[in-house]
Amino acid sequence: MDKKVRNIGVLTSGGDSPGMNAAIRAVVRTGLYHGLGVFGIMRGYAGMIEDDIKEMDGRSVANIIQRGGTILKTARSKDFMEFEGRQKAFANLQKHNIDGLVIIGGDGSFRGAQTFSNEFDIPCIGLPGTIDKDISGSDTTIGFDTAVNTAVQAIDKIRDTMDAHDRLFIVEVMGRDAGYIALHSGIATGAENILIPETKTDMAGMIESLTEKEKRKKLVNLIVVAEGDEFGGSAEVAKYVKEKLPTADVRVCVLGHIQRGGSPTCEDRLVASHMGYYAVESLLLGRKNVMVGVVNNKIHYTPLDKAVKEKQKIGQEWMKIVKILAS
Ligand code: ADP
Repeated sequence: MDKKVRNIGVLTSGGDSPGMNAAIRAVVRTGLYHGLGVFGIMRGYAGMIEDDIKEMDGRSVANIIQRGGTILKTARSKDFMEFEGRQKAFANLQKHNIDGLVIIGGDGSFRGAQTFSNEFDIPCIGLPGTIDKDISGSDTTIGFDTAVNTAVQAIDKIRDTMDAHDRLFIVEVMGRDAGYIALHSGIATGAENILIPETKTDMAGMIESLTEKEKRKKLVNLIVVAEGDEFGGSAEVAKYVKEKLPTADVRVCVLGHIQRGGSPTCEDRLVASHMGYYAVESLLLGRKNVMVGVVNNKIHYTPLDKAVKEKQKIGQEWMKIVKILAS
């Protein structure tokens, strides 16, 4: 039988996302509620290797639910990719009697957690903290809603100036290999074209419809492109469009890191609080190596290796809707 967890460590790893603080707060306060010792591990796996670990109390997470970023900082650690690094990390956990971990991060961080847990038999619970929403086993991830709302606000502003000048704007949003930020923000801002990696981008078809449009009136058009689109990012799309439509007034805007920052939305704070609570409850129930997700508004557990491998799929139906609504 598994031994009962008494001291837990919490860390944020990989890319940061708004709402991570709300998740940390939930983990710390739920842990303390159950009488556990709770330790904050700074800078993800790097802090675990360097023993940058501090005990948390209820006050240490006061006034952070509304703040973007992560009070525990985040990092990428090359040393954790090596067995020696992970061995050092485990020795530091033992020093603090930490016998359970909550990892808030993306699929890379979960891969690390899975390896670590296999080697040292320490239960790890993952919380999907990424703006990209690219992890299977959850309908949403901590930070996605904020990022997409930031993108929507920014694109609304761009649309104003685009309309005033009759321009064609290409706006690049984040998402790594996933097109969710592009799809959601594009639909919500009425983009005429949304280019995402999950569906084949038909550049020739897009140019054809832009040419038609230009013939009828001044070419005002909003293209939202995901940074990971298989045709390329905004620079490649702009080059292609300018070549084919030399008279169009083409402008490019890369939204960049503003999508990662800022105060989390209500939705992200709720999701993070919910998941953080269940992360601790899971450790107490003896669960290990699962990611806590939300599916159909219910908590859902996915083995960490499944959360790593599978990617969500964007239905073709959405692309049809985009086309109809933008016509
Ligand atoms: P994210 O969690 O946002 O996907 P990364 O892919 O950069 O971010 O992963 C975060 C960290 O997780 C890496 O810097 C590394 O320390 C650790 N990690 C990722 N993959 C592995 C692996 N296969 N083995 C051990 N550690 C890993």
